[in-house]
Amino acid sequence: MSHDFDLFVIGAGSGGVRAARFAAGYGARVAVAESRYLGGTCVNVGCVPKKLLVYGAHFAEDFEQASGFGWSLGEANFDWPTLIANKNREIERLNGIYRNLLTNSGVSLFEGHARIVDAHTVEVNGQRHSAERILIATGGWPQIPDIPGREHAISSNEAFFLKQLPRRVLVVGGGYIAVEFASIFHGLGAHTSLLYRGDLFLRGFDGAVREHLRDELNKKGLDLQFNADIANIERQADGSLAATLKDGRVLEADCVFYATGRRPMLDNLGLENVEVKLDKRGYIEVDDLFQTSTPSILALGDVIGRVQLTPVALAEGMAVARRLFKPEEYRPLDYSMIPTAVFSLPNIGTVGLSEEQAIEAGHKVKVFESRFRPMKLTLTENPERTLMKLVVDAGSDRVLGCHMVGPEAGEIVQGLAVALKAGATKQIFDETIGVHPSAAEEFVTLRTPVSR
Ligand code: FAD
Ligand code: NDP
Repeated sequence: MSHDFDLFVIGAGSGGVRAARFAAGYGARVAVAESRYLGGTCVNVGCVPKKLLVYGAHFAEDFEQASGFGWSLGEANFDWPTLIANKNREIERLNGIYRNLLTNSGVSLFEGHARIVDAHTVEVNGQRHSAERILIATGGWPQIPDIPGREHAISSNEAFFLKQLPRRVLVVGGGYIAVEFASIFHGLGAHTSLLYRGDLFLRGFDGAVREHLRDELNKKGLDLQFNADIANIERQADGSLAATLKDGRVLEADCVFYATGRRPMLDNLGLENVEVKLDKRGYIEVDDLFQTSTPSILALGDVIGRVQLTPVALAEGMAVARRLFKPEEYRPLDYSMIPTAVFSLPNIGTVGLSEEQAIEAGHKVKVFESRFRPMKLTLTENPERTLMKLVVDAGSDRVLGCHMVGPEAGEIVQGLAVALKAGATKQIFDETIGVHPSAAEEFVTLRTPVSR
Protein backbone atom coordinates (compact mmCIF):
# COMPACT_ATOMS: atom_id res chain seq x y z
CA MET A 1 0.00 0.00 0.00
CA SER A 2 1.34 3.42 -0.84
CA HIS A 3 1.43 6.01 1.95
CA ASP A 4 1.43 9.82 1.88
CA PHE A 5 4.95 9.85 3.35
CA ASP A 6 7.87 7.47 3.82
CA LEU A 7 8.61 8.99 7.23
CA PHE A 8 6.41 11.08 9.53
CA VAL A 9 8.45 12.69 12.32
CA ILE A 10 6.66 13.91 15.46
CA GLY A 11 8.66 16.72 17.03
CA ALA A 12 10.94 19.29 15.39
CA GLY A 13 13.60 19.26 18.10
CA SER A 14 17.26 18.32 17.86
CA GLY A 15 16.69 14.66 16.93
CA GLY A 16 13.54 15.04 14.84
CA VAL A 17 14.89 17.80 12.62
CA ARG A 18 18.16 15.95 12.04
CA ALA A 19 16.38 12.72 11.09
CA ALA A 20 13.89 14.55 8.84
CA ARG A 21 16.48 16.60 6.98
CA PHE A 22 18.80 13.71 6.36
CA ALA A 23 15.96 11.38 5.33
CA ALA A 24 14.66 13.99 2.87
CA GLY A 25 18.23 14.49 1.61
CA TYR A 26 18.39 10.76 0.86
CA GLY A 27 15.26 11.11 -1.27
CA ALA A 28 12.53 10.06 1.18
CA ARG A 29 9.15 11.80 1.32
CA VAL A 30 9.20 13.27 4.83
CA ALA A 31 6.79 15.20 7.06
CA VAL A 32 7.42 16.80 10.46
CA ALA A 33 4.79 17.89 12.98
CA GLU A 34 5.70 20.44 15.66
CA SER A 35 3.25 21.66 18.29
CA ARG A 36 5.28 24.29 20.10
CA TYR A 37 8.55 25.66 18.75
CA LEU A 38 10.91 24.82 15.89
CA GLY A 39 14.26 23.58 17.15
CA GLY A 40 12.72 21.98 20.24
CA THR A 41 14.01 22.21 23.79
CA CYS A 42 17.65 22.92 23.00
CA VAL A 43 16.98 25.98 20.87
CA ASN A 44 14.04 27.43 22.78
CA VAL A 45 14.29 26.50 26.47
CA GLY A 46 17.54 24.56 26.74
CA CYS A 47 21.17 24.63 25.65
CA VAL A 48 21.14 27.82 23.58
CA PRO A 49 19.28 30.34 25.78
CA LYS A 50 20.94 28.76 28.83
CA LYS A 51 24.42 29.36 27.42
CA LEU A 52 23.49 32.97 26.57
CA LEU A 53 22.41 33.52 30.18
CA VAL A 54 25.64 31.91 31.43
CA TYR A 55 27.65 34.34 29.27
CA GLY A 56 25.57 37.16 30.76
CA ALA A 57 26.23 35.97 34.30
CA HIS A 58 30.01 35.77 33.79
CA PHE A 59 30.32 39.51 33.10
CA ALA A 60 30.04 40.22 36.83
CA GLU A 61 33.37 38.45 37.35
CA ASP A 62 34.91 39.95 34.21
CA PHE A 63 34.19 43.48 35.48
CA GLU A 64 35.65 42.64 38.88
CA GLN A 65 38.81 41.20 37.36
CA ALA A 66 39.32 44.06 34.92
CA SER A 67 40.76 46.39 37.58
CA GLY A 68 43.73 44.04 38.09
CA PHE A 69 44.62 44.71 34.47
CA GLY A 70 44.43 48.45 34.88
CA TRP A 71 40.88 49.09 33.77
CA SER A 72 38.61 51.25 35.86
CA LEU A 73 34.95 50.99 35.09
CA GLY A 74 31.99 52.98 36.29
CA GLU A 75 29.33 51.29 38.36
CA ALA A 76 28.09 48.19 36.52
CA ASN A 77 24.32 47.80 36.21
CA PHE A 78 22.48 44.79 34.95
CA ASP A 79 19.09 44.87 33.21
CA TRP A 80 17.36 41.48 33.00
CA PRO A 81 14.60 42.57 30.53
CA THR A 82 17.32 43.65 28.05
CA LEU A 83 19.07 40.29 28.28
CA ILE A 84 15.80 38.39 27.87
CA ALA A 85 14.63 40.55 24.94
CA ASN A 86 17.96 40.09 23.13
CA LYS A 87 17.92 36.37 23.87
CA ASN A 88 14.36 36.11 22.51
CA ARG A 89 15.39 37.90 19.31
CA GLU A 90 18.25 35.47 18.78
CA ILE A 91 15.98 32.47 19.40
CA GLU A 92 13.45 33.81 16.88
CA ARG A 93 16.28 34.06 14.35
CA LEU A 94 17.18 30.43 15.03
CA ASN A 95 13.52 29.37 14.73
CA GLY A 96 13.58 30.90 11.23
CA ILE A 97 16.76 29.02 10.36
CA TYR A 98 15.17 25.75 11.45
CA ARG A 99 12.10 26.50 9.33
CA ASN A 100 14.33 27.11 6.30
CA LEU A 101 16.41 24.02 6.97
CA LEU A 102 13.29 21.89 6.90
CA THR A 103 11.48 23.46 4.00
CA ASN A 104 14.63 23.82 1.87
CA SER A 105 15.30 20.13 2.26
CA GLY A 106 11.82 19.35 0.97
CA VAL A 107 10.25 18.33 4.29
CA SER A 108 6.49 19.03 4.69
CA LEU A 109 6.00 20.92 7.96
CA PHE A 110 2.74 20.67 9.90
CA GLU A 111 2.45 23.08 12.81
CA GLY A 112 0.20 21.52 15.40
CA HIS A 113 -0.08 18.72 17.93
CA ALA A 114 0.36 15.27 16.41
CA ARG A 115 -1.50 12.19 17.60
CA ILE A 116 -0.85 8.66 16.49
CA VAL A 117 -4.04 7.05 15.18
CA ASP A 118 -2.63 3.67 14.18
CA ALA A 119 0.69 2.09 13.24
CA HIS A 120 0.79 4.07 9.95
CA THR A 121 -1.40 7.13 10.61
CA VAL A 122 -0.81 10.46 12.35
CA GLU A 123 -3.40 13.17 12.89
CA VAL A 124 -2.47 16.86 13.04
CA ASN A 125 -5.01 19.70 13.21
CA GLY A 126 -7.83 17.29 12.30
CA GLN A 127 -6.04 16.01 9.18
CA ARG A 128 -4.83 12.44 8.87
CA HIS A 129 -1.57 11.51 7.15
CA SER A 130 -0.38 8.02 6.41
CA ALA A 131 3.27 7.03 6.57
CA GLU A 132 5.37 3.94 6.04
CA ARG A 133 7.15 4.80 9.28
CA ILE A 134 6.45 7.12 12.20
CA LEU A 135 9.31 8.56 14.25
CA ILE A 136 8.54 9.77 17.78
CA ALA A 137 10.99 12.54 18.71
CA THR A 138 8.86 14.40 21.24
CA GLY A 139 11.57 15.04 23.84
CA GLY A 140 10.99 15.61 27.53
CA TRP A 141 9.33 17.94 30.00
CA PRO A 142 10.34 19.24 33.46
CA GLN A 143 9.14 17.22 36.38
CA ILE A 144 8.26 18.91 39.68
CA PRO A 145 7.45 16.71 42.70
CA ASP A 146 3.88 16.87 43.89
CA ILE A 147 4.32 18.91 47.08
CA PRO A 148 1.75 21.31 48.55
CA GLY A 149 2.26 24.67 46.86
CA ARG A 150 4.00 23.31 43.77
CA GLU A 151 1.91 25.75 41.70
CA HIS A 152 4.11 28.52 43.11
CA ALA A 153 7.28 26.90 41.74
CA ILE A 154 8.71 27.38 38.26
CA SER A 155 10.80 25.11 36.03
CA SER A 156 13.43 25.91 33.41
CA ASN A 157 10.60 26.47 30.90
CA GLU A 158 9.43 29.56 32.75
CA ALA A 159 12.84 30.73 34.00
CA PHE A 160 13.79 31.84 30.49
CA PHE A 161 10.84 34.24 30.36
CA LEU A 162 10.73 35.80 33.85
CA LYS A 163 9.76 39.47 33.61
CA GLN A 164 12.30 40.51 36.25
CA LEU A 165 15.34 38.95 37.87
CA PRO A 166 14.08 37.67 41.24
CA ARG A 167 15.86 39.16 44.25
CA ARG A 168 16.03 35.84 46.16
CA VAL A 169 15.94 32.45 44.42
CA LEU A 170 15.77 28.91 45.78
CA VAL A 171 16.98 26.38 43.24
CA VAL A 172 15.94 22.80 44.02
CA GLY A 173 17.84 19.83 42.57
CA GLY A 174 21.42 18.73 42.12
CA GLY A 175 21.72 17.91 38.42
CA TYR A 176 22.87 19.86 35.38
CA ILE A 177 20.02 22.34 35.30
CA ALA A 178 20.06 23.14 39.03
CA VAL A 179 23.80 23.79 39.08
CA GLU A 180 23.77 25.82 35.87
CA PHE A 181 20.83 28.01 36.88
CA ALA A 182 22.17 28.53 40.39
CA SER A 183 25.31 29.94 38.73
CA ILE A 184 23.22 32.09 36.39
CA PHE A 185 21.03 33.62 39.11
CA HIS A 186 23.97 34.12 41.47
CA GLY A 187 26.16 35.64 38.76
CA LEU A 188 23.44 38.07 37.74
CA GLY A 189 23.09 39.28 41.31
CA ALA A 190 20.18 37.36 42.85
CA HIS A 191 20.66 35.96 46.34
CA THR A 192 20.68 32.28 45.40
CA SER A 193 20.44 29.11 47.47
CA LEU A 194 20.77 25.66 45.92
CA LEU A 195 18.93 22.95 47.84
CA TYR A 196 19.88 19.35 47.12
CA ARG A 197 18.36 16.35 48.87
CA GLY A 198 21.61 14.31 49.03
CA ASP A 199 25.07 14.80 50.54
CA LEU A 200 26.65 16.28 47.41
CA PHE A 201 25.25 17.39 44.06
CA LEU A 202 25.99 16.03 40.53
CA ARG A 203 25.62 12.36 41.36
CA GLY A 204 27.44 10.27 38.72
CA PHE A 205 30.20 12.83 38.10
CA ASP A 206 33.73 12.21 39.38
CA GLY A 207 33.98 12.72 43.16
CA ALA A 208 36.88 15.17 42.94
CA VAL A 209 34.94 17.23 40.39
CA ARG A 210 31.85 17.38 42.60
CA GLU A 211 33.86 18.43 45.64
CA HIS A 212 35.93 20.95 43.72
CA LEU A 213 32.84 22.62 42.24
CA ARG A 214 31.20 22.68 45.69
CA ASP A 215 34.25 24.48 47.12
CA GLU A 216 34.45 26.97 44.24
CA LEU A 217 30.73 27.83 44.42
CA ASN A 218 31.02 28.25 48.19
CA LYS A 219 33.94 30.65 47.69
CA LYS A 220 31.82 32.71 45.31
CA GLY A 221 29.15 33.08 47.98
CA LEU A 222 26.51 30.82 46.46
CA ASP A 223 24.52 29.34 49.33
CA LEU A 224 24.72 25.53 48.95
CA GLN A 225 22.46 23.51 51.19
CA PHE A 226 22.86 19.74 51.01
CA ASN A 227 20.54 17.20 52.67
CA ALA A 228 17.84 19.84 52.25
CA ASP A 229 14.46 19.44 50.59
CA ILE A 230 11.27 21.47 50.49
CA ALA A 231 8.12 20.07 52.16
CA ASN A 232 5.73 22.83 51.05
CA ILE A 233 5.61 26.32 49.56
CA GLU A 234 3.21 29.09 50.57
CA ARG A 235 2.55 32.49 49.05
CA GLN A 236 2.76 35.20 51.70
CA ALA A 237 0.68 38.38 52.02
CA ASP A 238 3.46 40.53 50.52
CA GLY A 239 3.65 38.25 47.45
CA SER A 240 6.91 36.55 48.41
CA LEU A 241 7.20 32.79 48.93
CA ALA A 242 7.90 30.85 52.12
CA ALA A 243 9.37 27.38 51.61
CA THR A 244 9.19 25.08 54.60
CA LEU A 245 11.94 22.47 54.49
CA LYS A 246 11.53 18.88 55.64
CA ASP A 247 13.75 19.71 58.64
CA GLY A 248 11.30 22.45 59.66
CA ARG A 249 13.32 25.50 58.60
CA VAL A 250 11.50 28.17 56.62
CA LEU A 251 13.29 29.96 53.76
CA GLU A 252 11.86 33.07 52.12
CA ALA A 253 12.28 33.70 48.41
CA ASP A 254 10.81 35.51 45.44
CA CYS A 255 11.24 32.52 43.15
CA VAL A 256 11.41 28.77 43.78
CA PHE A 257 12.93 27.05 40.78
CA TYR A 258 12.69 23.25 40.50
CA ALA A 259 15.25 21.37 38.41
CA THR A 260 14.42 17.87 39.57
CA GLY A 261 14.69 15.98 36.31
CA ARG A 262 12.58 15.55 33.20
CA ARG A 263 9.97 13.05 32.07
CA PRO A 264 9.33 11.81 28.52
CA MET A 265 6.80 13.94 26.62
CA LEU A 266 4.03 11.48 25.71
CA ASP A 267 1.02 13.70 26.47
CA ASN A 268 -1.96 13.02 24.20
CA LEU A 269 0.35 11.26 21.73
CA GLY A 270 -2.15 8.47 21.06
CA LEU A 271 0.10 5.68 22.30
CA GLU A 272 -3.02 3.87 23.53
CA ASN A 273 -3.87 3.28 19.85
CA VAL A 274 -0.71 1.29 19.17
CA GLU A 275 1.48 -1.22 20.93
CA VAL A 276 4.47 0.81 22.00
CA LYS A 277 6.14 -0.52 25.14
CA LEU A 278 7.54 1.80 27.78
CA ASP A 279 10.46 0.90 30.04
CA LYS A 280 10.30 0.85 33.85
CA ARG A 281 11.01 4.59 34.03
CA GLY A 282 8.26 5.39 31.53
CA TYR A 283 10.47 6.12 28.52
CA ILE A 284 9.77 4.57 25.11
CA GLU A 285 11.62 1.28 24.77
CA VAL A 286 13.54 0.84 21.51
CA ASP A 287 15.96 -1.74 20.16
CA ASP A 288 19.41 -1.06 18.71
CA LEU A 289 17.74 0.19 15.52
CA PHE A 290 15.50 2.65 17.43
CA GLN A 291 12.48 0.50 16.62
CA THR A 292 9.66 0.29 19.20
CA SER A 293 7.54 -2.81 19.80
CA THR A 294 5.51 -1.75 16.76
CA PRO A 295 7.97 -2.17 13.86
CA SER A 296 6.68 0.82 11.83
CA ILE A 297 7.13 3.17 14.81
CA LEU A 298 10.58 4.37 15.86
CA ALA A 299 11.70 6.71 18.62
CA LEU A 300 14.85 8.65 19.54
CA GLY A 301 16.21 11.46 21.67
CA ASP A 302 15.10 12.40 25.18
CA VAL A 303 11.88 10.40 24.83
CA ILE A 304 13.87 7.13 24.89
CA GLY A 305 15.78 8.29 27.99
CA ARG A 306 19.25 7.02 27.07
CA VAL A 307 21.54 10.04 27.15
CA GLN A 308 19.61 13.31 27.26
CA LEU A 309 21.99 15.55 25.34
CA THR A 310 21.51 17.36 22.05
CA PRO A 311 24.54 15.88 20.23
CA VAL A 312 23.27 12.41 21.15
CA ALA A 313 19.79 13.16 19.77
CA LEU A 314 21.46 14.48 16.59
CA ALA A 315 23.55 11.33 16.22
CA GLU A 316 20.49 9.15 16.78
CA GLY A 317 18.57 11.16 14.17
CA MET A 318 21.33 10.66 11.65
CA ALA A 319 21.55 6.94 12.46
CA VAL A 320 17.80 6.49 11.90
CA ALA A 321 17.82 8.38 8.60
CA ARG A 322 20.79 6.40 7.32
CA ARG A 323 19.49 3.05 8.41
CA LEU A 324 16.15 3.61 6.70
CA PHE A 325 17.16 5.47 3.57
CA LYS A 326 20.93 5.10 3.08
CA PRO A 327 21.72 1.72 4.65
CA GLU A 328 25.11 1.52 2.96
CA GLU A 329 26.25 4.46 5.15
CA TYR A 330 24.63 3.21 8.36
CA ARG A 331 26.85 2.53 11.36
CA PRO A 332 25.48 1.62 14.80
CA LEU A 333 25.76 4.44 17.30
CA ASP A 334 28.55 4.10 19.84
CA TYR A 335 27.48 5.56 23.19
CA SER A 336 30.92 5.27 24.77
CA MET A 337 33.10 8.29 25.57
CA ILE A 338 30.38 10.93 25.19
CA PRO A 339 31.87 14.22 26.35
CA THR A 340 29.67 16.58 28.32
CA ALA A 341 29.89 19.95 30.02
CA VAL A 342 28.01 21.51 32.90
CA PHE A 343 27.95 25.24 32.25
CA SER A 344 28.17 26.22 35.88
CA LEU A 345 30.59 29.03 36.75
CA PRO A 346 33.23 27.61 36.71
CA ASN A 347 32.39 25.02 34.02
CA ILE A 348 32.76 21.27 34.31
CA GLY A 349 34.02 19.31 31.29
CA THR A 350 34.18 15.56 31.39
CA VAL A 351 34.60 12.53 29.14
CA GLY A 352 34.91 8.84 29.97
CA LEU A 353 34.86 7.15 33.34
CA SER A 354 35.00 8.81 36.73
CA GLU A 355 37.52 7.37 39.16
CA GLU A 356 34.66 5.70 41.04
CA GLN A 357 33.17 4.19 37.85
CA ALA A 358 36.58 2.92 36.72
CA ILE A 359 37.18 1.17 40.05
CA GLU A 360 33.64 -0.20 40.04
CA ALA A 361 34.25 -1.60 36.53
CA GLY A 362 37.26 -3.52 37.89
CA HIS A 363 40.10 -1.33 36.62
CA LYS A 364 43.22 -0.85 38.68
CA VAL A 365 43.57 2.89 38.25
CA LYS A 366 46.31 5.48 38.33
CA VAL A 367 45.02 8.98 38.93
CA PHE A 368 46.73 12.20 37.90
CA GLU A 369 45.51 15.54 39.20
CA SER A 370 46.45 19.17 38.99
CA ARG A 371 44.91 22.06 40.91
CA PHE A 372 46.08 25.57 40.09
CA ARG A 373 45.12 29.21 39.84
CA PRO A 374 44.33 30.11 36.21
CA MET A 375 46.90 32.58 34.83
CA LYS A 376 44.19 35.10 33.97
CA LEU A 377 43.36 35.42 37.65
CA THR A 378 46.91 36.00 38.88
CA LEU A 379 46.56 39.79 38.62
CA THR A 380 43.19 39.73 40.37
CA GLU A 381 41.83 39.03 43.83
CA ASN A 382 39.73 36.12 42.51
CA PRO A 383 40.72 32.94 44.43
CA GLU A 384 39.15 30.50 41.91
CA ARG A 385 41.19 27.36 41.25
CA THR A 386 41.03 24.93 38.36
CA LEU A 387 40.99 21.14 38.66
CA MET A 388 42.23 18.76 35.97
CA LYS A 389 42.20 15.03 36.42
CA LEU A 390 43.05 11.96 34.37
CA VAL A 391 41.93 8.45 35.28
CA VAL A 392 44.28 5.89 33.72
CA ASP A 393 44.12 2.09 33.58
CA ALA A 394 47.30 0.99 35.36
CA GLY A 395 47.62 -2.20 33.30
CA SER A 396 47.06 -0.99 29.73
CA ASP A 397 48.03 2.68 30.30
CA ARG A 398 44.84 3.68 28.50
CA VAL A 399 43.26 6.96 29.62
CA LEU A 400 39.78 6.03 30.83
CA GLY A 401 38.51 9.42 31.91
CA CYS A 402 39.36 13.06 31.71
CA HIS A 403 37.77 15.65 34.00
CA MET A 404 38.07 19.37 34.46
CA VAL A 405 36.53 22.15 36.51
CA GLY A 406 37.57 25.57 35.26
CA PRO A 407 37.11 28.19 32.55
CA GLU A 408 36.26 26.74 29.12
CA ALA A 409 36.31 23.16 30.46
CA GLY A 410 33.78 22.09 27.81
CA GLU A 411 35.90 23.53 24.99
CA ILE A 412 39.01 21.75 26.25
CA VAL A 413 37.38 18.40 26.91
CA GLN A 414 35.82 18.29 23.42
CA GLY A 415 39.32 17.97 21.94
CA LEU A 416 40.41 15.40 24.48
CA ALA A 417 37.30 13.33 23.71
CA VAL A 418 38.78 12.62 20.27
CA ALA A 419 41.94 11.26 21.90
CA LEU A 420 40.02 9.10 24.36
CA LYS A 421 37.72 7.80 21.63
CA ALA A 422 40.84 6.83 19.66
CA GLY A 423 42.08 4.88 22.70
CA ALA A 424 44.95 7.19 23.67
CA THR A 425 47.30 5.96 26.38
CA LYS A 426 48.85 8.11 29.07
CA GLN A 427 52.14 7.75 27.20
CA ILE A 428 50.56 9.42 24.16
CA PHE A 429 49.33 12.24 26.39
CA ASP A 430 52.91 12.54 27.77
CA GLU A 431 54.41 12.62 24.27
CA THR A 432 52.00 15.34 23.13
CA ILE A 433 53.52 18.81 23.14
CA GLY A 434 51.55 21.41 25.07
CA VAL A 435 50.22 24.78 23.93
CA HIS A 436 51.93 27.35 26.10
CA PRO A 437 50.81 29.25 28.08
CA SER A 438 47.42 27.62 28.37
CA ALA A 439 45.43 25.77 31.00
CA ALA A 440 44.86 22.86 28.64
CA GLU A 441 48.60 22.04 28.50
CA GLU A 442 48.30 20.71 32.05
CA PHE A 443 46.56 17.66 30.60
CA VAL A 444 49.78 16.67 28.79
CA THR A 445 52.19 17.52 31.60
CA LEU A 446 50.70 15.50 34.47
CA ARG A 447 53.63 13.30 35.53
CA THR A 448 53.15 12.02 39.06
CA PRO A 449 50.17 9.88 40.03
CA VAL A 450 48.24 10.94 43.09
CA SER A 451 48.83 8.49 45.91
CA ARG A 452 45.62 7.15 47.40
P1 FAD B 1 13.33 18.12 21.97
O1 FAD B 1 14.44 19.01 21.57
O2 FAD B 1 12.72 18.33 23.31
O3 FAD B 1 12.21 18.25 20.85
C1 FAD B 1 10.96 17.65 20.97
C2 FAD B 1 9.97 18.46 20.18
O4 FAD B 1 8.76 17.71 20.04
C3 FAD B 1 9.57 19.76 20.88
O5 FAD B 1 9.77 20.85 20.01
C4 FAD B 1 8.10 19.57 21.22
O6 FAD B 1 7.34 20.77 21.17
C5 FAD B 1 7.64 18.59 20.12
N1 FAD B 1 6.48 17.79 20.48
C6 FAD B 1 6.26 17.08 21.62
N2 FAD B 1 5.10 16.40 21.54
C7 FAD B 1 4.57 16.70 20.31
C8 FAD B 1 3.40 16.28 19.63
N3 FAD B 1 2.55 15.38 20.16
N4 FAD B 1 3.16 16.79 18.40
C9 FAD B 1 4.03 17.66 17.81
N5 FAD B 1 5.17 18.06 18.41
C10 FAD B 1 5.43 17.57 19.64
N6 FAD B 1 21.87 19.33 26.05
C11 FAD B 1 23.14 19.55 25.69
O7 FAD B 1 23.73 18.74 24.95
N7 FAD B 1 23.83 20.66 26.10
C12 FAD B 1 23.25 21.59 26.90
O8 FAD B 1 23.88 22.58 27.25
C13 FAD B 1 21.91 21.39 27.30
N8 FAD B 1 21.29 22.29 28.08
C14 FAD B 1 19.99 22.09 28.45
C15 FAD B 1 19.39 23.04 29.26
C16 FAD B 1 18.08 22.87 29.66
C17 FAD B 1 17.44 23.90 30.54
C18 FAD B 1 17.36 21.73 29.21
C19 FAD B 1 15.92 21.55 29.61
C20 FAD B 1 17.94 20.78 28.40
C21 FAD B 1 19.27 20.94 28.02
N9 FAD B 1 19.94 20.02 27.21
C22 FAD B 1 21.24 20.22 26.85
C23 FAD B 1 19.26 18.79 26.76
C24 FAD B 1 18.76 18.94 25.31
O9 FAD B 1 17.98 20.11 25.20
C25 FAD B 1 17.93 17.71 24.92
O10 FAD B 1 18.69 16.55 25.14
C26 FAD B 1 17.53 17.76 23.44
O11 FAD B 1 16.78 18.91 23.16
C27 FAD B 1 16.70 16.51 23.10
O12 FAD B 1 16.27 16.58 21.77
P2 FAD B 1 14.96 15.80 21.28
O13 FAD B 1 14.93 15.94 19.81
O14 FAD B 1 14.92 14.45 21.87
O15 FAD B 1 13.73 16.58 21.93
P1 NDP C 1 19.06 15.56 36.25
O1 NDP C 1 18.49 14.22 36.09
O2 NDP C 1 20.42 15.86 35.75
O3 NDP C 1 19.05 15.95 37.80
C1 NDP C 1 17.88 15.89 38.57
C2 NDP C 1 18.23 16.29 39.98
O4 NDP C 1 17.05 16.45 40.73
C3 NDP C 1 19.10 15.26 40.69
O5 NDP C 1 20.01 15.94 41.50
C4 NDP C 1 18.08 14.51 41.55
O6 NDP C 1 18.61 14.02 42.74
C5 NDP C 1 17.11 15.62 41.89
N1 NDP C 1 15.74 15.14 42.14
C6 NDP C 1 15.03 14.28 41.39
N2 NDP C 1 13.81 14.09 41.94
C7 NDP C 1 13.76 14.86 43.05
C8 NDP C 1 12.76 15.09 44.03
N3 NDP C 1 11.60 14.50 43.95
N4 NDP C 1 13.06 15.93 45.03
C9 NDP C 1 14.27 16.53 45.12
N5 NDP C 1 15.25 16.35 44.20
C10 NDP C 1 14.99 15.53 43.19
O7 NDP C 1 17.97 16.52 35.64
P2 NDP C 1 17.96 18.02 35.16
O8 NDP C 1 16.56 18.44 35.33
O9 NDP C 1 19.04 18.83 35.80
O10 NDP C 1 18.35 17.90 33.61
C11 NDP C 1 17.74 16.92 32.77
C12 NDP C 1 18.71 16.43 31.75
O11 NDP C 1 18.90 17.41 30.72
C13 NDP C 1 20.13 16.18 32.27
O12 NDP C 1 20.26 14.93 32.88
C14 NDP C 1 20.97 16.30 31.02
O13 NDP C 1 20.97 15.07 30.34
C15 NDP C 1 20.22 17.35 30.22
N6 NDP C 1 20.90 18.64 30.39
C16 NDP C 1 22.15 18.80 29.89
C17 NDP C 1 22.83 19.97 30.07
C18 NDP C 1 24.20 20.12 29.53
O14 NDP C 1 24.60 19.33 28.70
N7 NDP C 1 24.96 21.12 29.97
C19 NDP C 1 22.24 21.09 30.78
C20 NDP C 1 20.91 20.83 31.26
C21 NDP C 1 20.28 19.65 31.06
P3 NDP C 1 19.36 12.60 42.85
O15 NDP C 1 20.69 12.77 42.22
O16 NDP C 1 19.44 12.41 44.33
O17 NDP C 1 18.49 11.61 42.17
